[in-house]
Amino acid sequence: MNVIDNNENEYLSILEDSVETGLEVNFRKSWKVLVVDDDPDVHKATDFALRGLMIEDRPIRLIHAYSAAEALKLITDTRDIAVAILDVVMETEDAGLAVIRQIRQLPGSQSLRIILRTGQPGYAPELDTIRHFDINDYKTKSELTRTRLYTSLTTAIRSYNQMKKIDEMRSGLEMVVKASTELNQKRGLELFAAGVVEQLCALLNIEPEGLICAQTGGPEDKGSPRIIAAAGRYSSLIEQPLTNLDNPAIRGAIERCLREMCNLYDEGLSLYFSTKNGGELVAFVETDERIEENNRHLLEVFGSNMAVGFDNVVLYERLRDQAYLDPLLRIPNLNKMLELISESPGINGDRCFAVIDIDDFSSINDTLGHEFGDAVLKEVYRTLRDNLNESVISRINSDTFGLLGPASEVNAVKLLALFDSPFPIQGNELRISATIGLVALEKGKPADPEVLKNANLALKQAKHTKRGSAVYFSDEMGNIMRDRIHLLRGIRSAIESQKFFLVYQPKISLDTGKPSGLEALLRWQNEEGEYISPDYFIPLAEQSGLMVIIGNHVLRSACWQLSRLREQGYTSLVMSINVSQLQLQEADFVQGLERILQDYNVPPDKIELEITESIAADDPRKTRDLLLKIREIGVNIAIDDFGTGFSSLSILKYIPAGRLKIDRSFILEMEQDDSIARIILGLGRNLGMMVTAEGVETGDQYCALRDLGCQEAQGWFFSKPLEEEALYKWLRTVFG
Ligand code: C2E
Ligand code: CA
Ligand code: CA
Repeated sequence: MNVIDNNENEYLSILEDSVETGLEVNFRKSWKVLVVDDDPDVHKATDFALRGLMIEDRPIRLIHAYSAAEALKLITDTRDIAVAILDVVMETEDAGLAVIRQIRQLPGSQSLRIILRTGQPGYAPELDTIRHFDINDYKTKSELTRTRLYTSLTTAIRSYNQMKKIDEMRSGLEMVVKASTELNQKRGLELFAAGVVEQLCALLNIEPEGLICAQTGGPEDKGSPRIIAAAGRYSSLIEQPLTNLDNPAIRGAIERCLREMCNLYDEGLSLYFSTKNGGELVAFVETDERIEENNRHLLEVFGSNMAVGFDNVVLYERLRDQAYLDPLLRIPNLNKMLELISESPGINGDRCFAVIDIDDFSSINDTLGHEFGDAVLKEVYRTLRDNLNESVISRINSDTFGLLGPASEVNAVKLLALFDSPFPIQGNELRISATIGLVALEKGKPADPEVLKNANLALKQAKHTKRGSAVYFSDEMGNIMRDRIHLLRGIRSAIESQKFFLVYQPKISLDTGKPSGLEALLRWQNEEGEYISPDYFIPLAEQSGLMVIIGNHVLRSACWQLSRLREQGYTSLVMSINVSQLQLQEADFVQGLERILQDYNVPPDKIELEITESIAADDPRKTRDLLLKIREIGVNIAIDDFGTGFSSLSILKYIPAGRLKIDRSFILEMEQDDSIARIILGLGRNLGMMVTAEGVETGDQYCALRDLGCQEAQGWFFSKPLEEEALYKWLRTVFG
């Protein structure tokens, strides 16, 4: 086999400096024409005839084969042969036709054009054969003058070129479709952009190198372009502003592309995508090759497909951001932190989780404005970030940060120290204090979301102890919490299964010695049969918001009991009912009370509500208004545990009560010192209020109180709190 180029010297030099690009490009861009003939003279003649000629601005490169077998091998091995000029008659009469049949069976040979030549003028293949084998031309050798050969070859090459373009277009479109589907599966902007780079290179059949995607923000934020993906020698620029690219030509091209909002084909290729949501992307590919018209068309199709994909990705990113990012600080939020906690591998060494709560943040917000509050958060975050290099920082609540990191960073001493010096905020030096709850994580184990709960529990404990302190979660804390949760569940199911009931403690008029009323006291017998003290479960019910439901139940049951007692003839008795502050805070408390009174047909003046002094601590005026409304409907108010609060005297201005109850502790100490009991009794007299003594256990106490002018008393000396049946029995004995 003999391969002769039409410029032999040039060919040799190509071989010598192998793939040197400039020449390679020329070399590649000649038309390859295969001459198949067993007669060497025909080869020479063809060579001579076509020497120096150009078709469509490209030279012709002849490849020579002297037999059918050789021709087939060359066609198989050489890419891009445009035309084969074939002798019909070679070894056998129709060896040429046999070659054509075989050629057409080779994959990808459809665009190869064929010119048949024969030495014998009389011999011509059937028209059918010509059509069937897609033969371009048929000429006798004598007909093939230089001009005729050139014309025939030009037609064949043009036809080849067109077919080739259609072929490329088809496979290009297939690639675009494939690229689009692949890219649409990419989640995340960086992955998507890297995918665009990759697919674009594949489309243009170039190395994924020197590719940059730049993006500007949405319409509200046309910031400077950012590099979001890069390949090859530009990969170090990912996540940097475009201005960091120190190649003015490329930078200029990208900027121009964004300005002119169209694809640019000089200075490499800059592909412009704009999206429905106002985002803009430029994909830049460094290439010296001219981008052909049909490729440009493909790139446009690619571009519009990508814009849709890009929109999807942006939408997805935004959703993900909303779900996982704190909008103010752009750091992980609670959701993300929970994910990180449960994903975080049990790395070596001790790790800790901490919650940092900024003290008094809401008053900073209220007094200095939200903008200032935001500045505080930003500054606290900056300090955390600058001092904790190995930890994840998240904002898990308006004024709470969550930290996950090595114990060398996330520890009480280090974190508290960060709040020692003042923070520079809007030109002021502001002292910020923070309270911290910490949990030491178990070594080598991924943490579970309980960690957050535990840290919050430790935080609560820290706040309880002292603001600006830090407390580590302990197992004991955990046990207390578990008990409380258990209790809360119990309270819930007790409400459902009506396991709460009331007992009634008689109150005695010290003037007549006869019962004047009853105090309703709540009882709960849990599943295990134990009686749980209201002193224990009521604060818990208040904290968990269950107290309102329970309180309503108490009001109803007590009123129902009173109406029954009245039916039995005990019409003088007054029912005292304890109400919690939280019940009173309900907007429709008074209406609800009136309804209950109506429902059970009890006169309002036979009901007394017992409240504690602390009720007026928050908003005394509002409390006063509410209590006045209650008194307006005829229901009396008693101040329970009087004397134990700090503000006993001043509070009387705000609580329109008709009765004071002397706390049990003052009755207990009466034998040694009765001064407080005396003062309260004097106060009641002066203010025109009745006084009841609680916790009277002895006859001496009873006599002393009666002598001091106390109107009413209750306590074990008279009776313990009684269940329904015992109560009726007791009443029958006393009243006879
Ligand atoms: P309180 O209103 O001061 O009720 C008086 C408490 O003293 C009752 O305890 C009663 O059993 C107890 N007691 C009565 N006489 C004596 C005595 O002579 N000696 C001694 N040592 N104790 C006596 P209890 O029933 O355990 O109630 C405790 C607290 O729970 C009540 O104190 C009240 O603040 C609250 N509470 C009870 N029932 C309710 C209710 O239905 N609603 C609300 N909001 N709180 C309630
Ligand atoms: Ca009471
Ligand atoms: Ca009391």
